[in-house]
Amino acid sequence: MNNTIIYSLAVTGVQQLVPYKAGKPIEELERELGLTQIIKLASNENPFGAGKKALAAIQAVLSELGLYPDGSGYHLKNALAVKYGLDAEQITLGNGSNEILELIARAFVTPELEVIFSQHAFAVYPIVTQAVGATGVVVPALNYGHDLDAMLKAVTAKTRVIFIANPNNPTGTLLSQASLEACIGALPEWVICVLDEAYFEFVSCVETVNSIVWLKKFPNLIITRTFSKAYGLAGLRVGYGLSSPEIADILNRVRQPFNNNSLALVAATAALDDAEHLQLTVDNNTQGMAQLTEGFKTLGLEWIPSAGNFVSVDLKQSGQTIYDALLRKGVIVRPVGVYEMPNHLRISIGTPEENAVFLQALADVLKNV
Ligand SMILES: *Cc1c(COP(=O)(O)O)cnc(C)c1O
Repeated sequence: MNNTIIYSLAVTGVQQLVPYKAGKPIEELERELGLTQIIKLASNENPFGAGKKALAAIQAVLSELGLYPDGSGYHLKNALAVKYGLDAEQITLGNGSNEILELIARAFVTPELEVIFSQHAFAVYPIVTQAVGATGVVVPALNYGHDLDAMLKAVTAKTRVIFIANPNNPTGTLLSQASLEACIGALPEWVICVLDEAYFEFVSCVETVNSIVWLKKFPNLIITRTFSKAYGLAGLRVGYGLSSPEIADILNRVRQPFNNNSLALVAATAALDDAEHLQLTVDNNTQGMAQLTEGFKTLGLEWIPSAGNFVSVDLKQSGQTIYDALLRKGVIVRPVGVYEMPNHLRISIGTPEENAVFLQALADVLKNV
């Protein structure tokens, strides 16, 4: 049998699917170049990693790894419900918030339907859309941010989901709460609105984010958040959706019974209680953002003002070339050509030392091209 036949057996959307390309792992670069001093500012991870409370919680349950986790996520859901003033029935836990995005596509979208998202928006939206064979409708961005009016105009009778990332990754652009509220309110009742707030913790320290109160009036709204970014638990994979009980019930029907592992559940619950680690993270981010943008200014580079824990800088030349040169210096950042931003690189905020190493490497690289 000819092996290429196998591809023709895949469902149509999957045949054309280009897999998500993750940030390069440190170990991979070590293997390839034999470098030892490597810094990774590529995946918007927390430069301090997990907090003490999360680590202690993991230690405490290691002896129970032979048991299945609590498939209902009782403690974590309750902790989130208390924190946000919601009912536990409004919460869906995911293996990362990416899983929530996928559950939404699987539960609500069929091949004849359309899914709206912005140009330069998070790469997982087109992937989950295409995987279910639906049509992704890409709306041109406005100054790198979402053009909510244009996105509304793109809604048709076939639209089932609209993805809005606030802030967006990889641009870091932030929409006003008022414009968001108006947009969600203007959606017809057959459209599920996914408001992706993966970077919520970095925004809420400087601006009022009141999207949760909208859940009362918008039963078609689902807000997704994650423990991967500000909470430093990217490796454990925990995210969640906040919605009407009806949306949560529907997502729960397609969810795998044990989609969150037991270490992830206890670590996330403990992390919610670690205000100190979160504050340290957010403060470091504020300072690091200032450090990087000052550095860009010194180098005569422009960047897209960002509300996240990353910033995309315009190199006015191939980002991929600069990325490759930075790799050879042991610095991993993120090329964003797949986001139609070929001249930008996205840099995650690191520790002050990591930021300084990156800026020096960038200066050296730019001198030599
Ligand atoms: C990182 C990210 C996520 C999801 O991350 P998980 O690790 O799956 O929780 C979702 N949306 C955006 C915009 C992101 O940048």
